[in-house]
Amino acid sequence: MLEHGPLPGWQTKRFQRLSARLSAGTFPSALLLTGSEGVGKRRLGDALVRAVYCEQRGDSDPACGQCGGCRQLAAGSHPDLVICEPEEGKQSITVDVIREFSRKLYLTPQTAAGRVGYMPRADLMNVNAANALLKTLEEPPSTAHLILIADRPAHLPATIRSRCEQVRAVVESPDEAEAWLEEQFPDLSPALRQRLVMQPLLAESAQRHAQQESEIRRQLDMVWSQQRDPVLAAGELDDELLPRVGRVIHSCIADQFRLQMKQGASTRGRLAMQRLVDANAAALHLSQTSQANLRLLAETQLIEWARTGRLLTQN
Ligand SMILES: [Zn+2]
Repeated sequence: MLEHGPLPGWQTKRFQRLSARLSAGTFPSALLLTGSEGVGKRRLGDALVRAVYCEQRGDSDPACGQCGGCRQLAAGSHPDLVICEPEEGKQSITVDVIREFSRKLYLTPQTAAGRVGYMPRADLMNVNAANALLKTLEEPPSTAHLILIADRPAHLPATIRSRCEQVRAVVESPDEAEAWLEEQFPDLSPALRQRLVMQPLLAESAQRHAQQESEIRRQLDMVWSQQRDPVLAAGELDDELLPRVGRVIHSCIADQFRLQMKQGASTRGRLAMQRLVDANAAALHLSQTSQANLRLLAETQLIEWARTGRLLTQN
């Protein structure tokens, strides 16, 4: 299913160049789109797939959205589009998935445009899967195009990369991306906007993370000054916030440390801060193991945080 939004402005020219090659019959038999997360590779890939099957578009126009081909794509029922993704619940693409993908690519296409094999997360292939795909790339079906996308092309074997035409789909004009961010995410802080200029499509999750962090910080402030019970605060943290608690505490500790040093902390205060740093480092380490109970861990961290707050505010 193609589910990614409209093509952002900074990908338009690249789309038009590739799309014109579709019309000219010179589109690569295997295309690899690379570039870091958040540059819009998936949107570009989706737009190219739509361009292949749209029956009414001009050389470099985007798909019309109205014709039979466009409607079949929107419904997820186009007979010639073969999408390759990891099986549900799996982190990698296995050899069985690739075998089935390749088998479908060699079937006779049902439309004149031919088959498209679309791999939006090609860098998730494991070694055996990549070897299986290599066979298909060495003898590609004459009526098919492959479109691969990878955030981390280095995870693909060089043999795969060398058989694809590689296009780096990066942000070339930061000004354009900045204007887009300003329009789409007017609430973004200027600092965050600057940070996202080369990966603008991460803005939504970055904004959500910033809001989550400020909520955690608010809770931490109250716990530190004994206005809130640490166990209650941990119990009421949203599930979604739990994985971020350790990192936020980490940065709050750094802030507190600076403050304490500026105020000329006592030896007792310094020891308490050191103890907090150690406890949080241990908790951070633990939170990265798969069996960690994040809520329990947050509770332990908040209790330690409250204890240190009590000690230092009493000084
Ligand atoms: Zn169309």
